[in-house]
Amino acid sequence: MFSDLFNVFFPQLCIGCQKKLNPSEEILCIYCESDIPMSNNWNEYKSELYRKLCGKIPLEGAASFYLFDKVSPVRKLVHSLKYKGAKEVGYYIGNKFGNLLTSNSSIIKDIDLIVPLPLHPHKLKVRGFNQCDPFADALSKTLNVPYETGALTRIVENVSQTKMDKHNRFTNVKKIFNVENKEILKSKHILLVDDVVTTGATSESCLATILEVPDTRVSFVAMAEVRSK
Ligand SMILES: [Zn+2]
Repeated sequence: MFSDLFNVFFPQLCIGCQKKLNPSEEILCIYCESDIPMSNNWNEYKSELYRKLCGKIPLEGAASFYLFDKVSPVRKLVHSLKYKGAKEVGYYIGNKFGNLLTSNSSIIKDIDLIVPLPLHPHKLKVRGFNQCDPFADALSKTLNVPYETGALTRIVENVSQTKMDKHNRFTNVKKIFNVENKEILKSKHILLVDDVVTTGATSESCLATILEVPDTRVSFVAMAEVRSK
């Protein structure tokens, strides 16, 4: 009753179009939801995302949920999560994607541990939370696999990639993460999770850091992916 009353005075609005949501809708109205292009790569072994990340490291599987573009509501979703503290957006995408992967993915499987891509401590202090954590938490529940935030740290905050070629860029960003606890990762198949992948250089660097731990395998998922035109 209280939540009904609450909704009368403070109706939940769609993050995409700001219209009032129906009781059956959550975060996005059905129109905005259907407006976001999906990646459809959760059964595609050598997808563009996979090839982007798998240049220099061995990778078991890679998938993303949405395709990121500047016109669909996906941009507003990510913005609300990262800059307005809307953690429920991360849970929303994680639940949907986790259910999809559980029932319908041949490449994201046999995962032992989920690890969110860590934020640098400075950025964590400013933002108050890692935007990958709610996503990782929801994936953990739907995939029924534990998630762990203390195994890795980010030691370099900003990596300028503008003046380097592809090869140098990779060697430059390679040292931006550090393993804090090898025992947690050792002999496991780790699923690294990230928010939006553009070049893939940062995620690739993080995957390479995980692979320094003996007997690990890595897979990767992101909320959204920017594809080359
Ligand atoms: Zn809407």
